[in-house]
Amino acid sequence: MPEALMEVKDLKVHFPVQDGWARRDGRVVRAVDGISLRLYAGEVLAVVGESGCGKTTLGRTVAGLASPTSGTITFRGRDLQQLSTADRKVFRRQVQMVFQDPYDSMNPRKSAFQMIAQPLSINGIVPKSKLVDEVLRLFDNVGLSPGRAYLERTRHQLSGGERQRLSIARSISVNPSIIVADEPVSALDISIQGQILGLMRKLQMDSGISYLFISHDLAVVRSLADRVMIVYLGQIAEEGSTDDVFTNPRHPYTLALLAAHPIPDPKLSRKRIKLILTGDVPSPIDPPAGCRFHTRCPIAEGICSSKAPAMKSFADGHQVACHFADQIESKSKQIAAAAALDH
Ligand code: SF4
Repeated sequence: MPEALMEVKDLKVHFPVQDGWARRDGRVVRAVDGISLRLYAGEVLAVVGESGCGKTTLGRTVAGLASPTSGTITFRGRDLQQLSTADRKVFRRQVQMVFQDPYDSMNPRKSAFQMIAQPLSINGIVPKSKLVDEVLRLFDNVGLSPGRAYLERTRHQLSGGERQRLSIARSISVNPSIIVADEPVSALDISIQGQILGLMRKLQMDSGISYLFISHDLAVVRSLADRVMIVYLGQIAEEGSTDDVFTNPRHPYTLALLAAHPIPDPKLSRKRIKLILTGDVPSPIDPPAGCRFHTRCPIAEGICSSKAPAMKSFADGHQVACHFADQIESKSKQIAAAAALDH
């Protein structure tokens, strides 16, 4: 197994519950609650879950934008918490973030040229005399063409797709190893989504960038990710290769997500057992005891509300946190048959 570029161990990120300006009775929001992961060079690891499952907090924390409550994050074998100020600067360059809508992260007074030229000069990547050429090269790389037409535009003179291209250009300008992309295409029209995903894949192939790709959209994840991690209430429910998770899901939550967002693949939809997800995600302030999914799980049994399931391992790194992961097919069929009888 190659060494991971980034390794996260038992990461917890808890926030105090706020009531207006005051903190309320010591309670905390358990946004991320014991997640471990490895991200290898040149791969796309997707983090999937409903809103409120902690995936954005996870992304912000591994990108160094939020502080862990406990656990460790190592990058190229070095603990983030132990980095000197100079090394932290290097880390910030190496791990970039792309947001859902970059509009807010762009200075309204700066031109597209200035937005890209600034990180290039601050990090001494090209001499001043070469700045325009380098910005045009980056524009060309991300499909902002002809580049000269974009140099003086400000954020409100760009479409959503163009802003996302500019944001990707800004990220790759400093030659990062990892891009944490938080729902990078969900605010875009479907045709533009395809273009941006194609661009991200091309950049990954050309320069070996790794992505931590945060999304709720299973079709997008299936088209881009090498591995998938399904997250529920701040914890991992299932993880494995994209093929394994999509063709052989073993966690009821994954099955329910796949049933709720069918992917056009007749081979898969014939095979797949449909579990229906009901109710809302419980509060991360007071998550259910035992398995966190038991309040919504169609195949839950008594043990599920009293004992948290251990992670079970299957072939090829496929891991599932469910007491019944090895009986998922038979159990789900029973539920589906019972539901059919009820109708
Ligand atoms: Fe459902 Fe129980 Fe498995 Fe949790 S452990 S996913 S409640 S069957």
